[in-house]
Amino acid sequence: MHSFLQSFWQYAYLFAAFATVFSIKWLSHPSTARRGVIAGEIGFALAIVGTFLRLEVSPHHYISILIAIAIGAMIGAPMARLMPMTAVPQFTALSHAFGSLAAALVGTAEYYLTDAPPHGFTIVALIIEVLLGFLTFTASLMAFGKLQGLVPSPPITYKGQNFVNLAFLAFGVVLGLWPMITTAPFWVYPAFVVVALIFGVMFILPIGGGDMPTVIALLNSFAGASACAMGFTLGNQLLIIAGALNAASGFTLSVIMCKAMNRSFTNVLFGAFGKAQEKVAGKAETKPVHSATAEDAAMLLLNSSRVIIAPGYGMAVSQAQHKVRELADQLIKRGIDVQFAIHPVAGRMPGHMNVLLAEADIPYDRLHEMEDINNEFPETDVALVIGANDVVNPAARHDKTSAIYGMPILDVDKARHVMVIKRSMNTGFAGIENELYYDDKTLMLFGDAKGMVAEIVKQVGAQAPVAV
Ligand code: NAP
Repeated sequence: MHSFLQSFWQYAYLFAAFATVFSIKWLSHPSTARRGVIAGEIGFALAIVGTFLRLEVSPHHYISILIAIAIGAMIGAPMARLMPMTAVPQFTALSHAFGSLAAALVGTAEYYLTDAPPHGFTIVALIIEVLLGFLTFTASLMAFGKLQGLVPSPPITYKGQNFVNLAFLAFGVVLGLWPMITTAPFWVYPAFVVVALIFGVMFILPIGGGDMPTVIALLNSFAGASACAMGFTLGNQLLIIAGALNAASGFTLSVIMCKAMNRSFTNVLFGAFGKAQEKVAGKAETKPVHSATAEDAAMLLLNSSRVIIAPGYGMAVSQAQHKVRELADQLIKRGIDVQFAIHPVAGRMPGHMNVLLAEADIPYDRLHEMEDINNEFPETDVALVIGANDVVNPAARHDKTSAIYGMPILDVDKARHVMVIKRSMNTGFAGIENELYYDDKTLMLFGDAKGMVAEIVKQVGAQAPVAV
């Protein structure tokens, strides 16, 4: 029994590793996401308990760890509760900032606290941990600032910037290599830390605020890699496993996002995307559009047998998802087939639309990925676009000069009728005109998404008795 208790932390670590793997697996689908969150929580609780049992330190160490956990929980819990859904990207950035700072500080403590400076493989892992940790810390704070409007969102660029950035990074790497090769003078490590911190800021400056969600996924991967390296430094297998999973999943996510936008990684990181869009946004279209009222929309919907709803960023901003569910319920009750088309980069963060629609209890079997539903638009009476713009812009298919050329889109323009709810003729994230709005079969419903959908729900209720 005694030996079981002594080795209990190893079992705790093993189960924590399993829980982390299952958590990531389950988080990949809305129907299992809750289970994924619970598995992750259990995994982390086991990791903390295992670490407590593993540590052979005096009681006052336990007390300081508990105090740190309590302070973290007091800040984190209200933040998670009070944060609006649309602010998830910036709060994710903030949590990466603190996670990577923790890894970098642990590495720094290891560097200074041991009697003999770390050497061999340990110093290699430690330098990687500290470099990624500190640069991810400042880069994530910058990403948070851009998304929260505290730092100017457009890319800040100057001539030769990419070269300067790479040269600065190379300087940091040289400083990092120094203690790996030989005993370094006292100033080398602090200088290395300062370079890593400054590079984090330089890395983010040329990237526009709109690309921050992709960059945040990449920073997630850096933070994971830093934690993984910390696992090697400390000889902690669980950190190696959890860090590697975090690094791989963050990287995979950023690649998926780039693919869904048909942009290369280098274009996101070095392309200063927001700059290009400012120029294009200047050209205002003067062609007429067909505008309609909520009453017109209700009539058209009630005369349809199939409706596909394509939600976008505007639905998220106006928090219209509950009203959208009400509208879908009303139409379904009247025998109309209602489905939802989800573009992989609709909104401003991965899974944005799935999360919002799931929050409004829209059944998962009505949510369809773009590639699964696109061929159904020609058989659809009405494509109802709610606060989406770029992800339904047909220019992506044919206009080689367009910033979104090549991005796969929802084929809403192939439906018999298109209705678009948005407040004005303003552009979306990419800053480009949308020819869909000028199409003869498109009706524009100008107004805030939530208010407009609420009005359509009212009109639908007023105009048609529920079929039994
Ligand atoms: P979008 O192109 O940004 O367009 C959103 C539209 O919503 C705007 O044109 C805006 O027009 C309208 N809108 C804003 N507030 C509204 C409100 N309260 N009520 C009604 N309408 C409102 O959005 P999207 O079609 O979802 O496309 C997402 C874009 O973000 C893509 O370009 C994608 O590449 C990019 N992106 C996505 C991610 C991700 O992970 N999802 C990450 C990075 C970048 P008005 O101002 O006229 O209302």
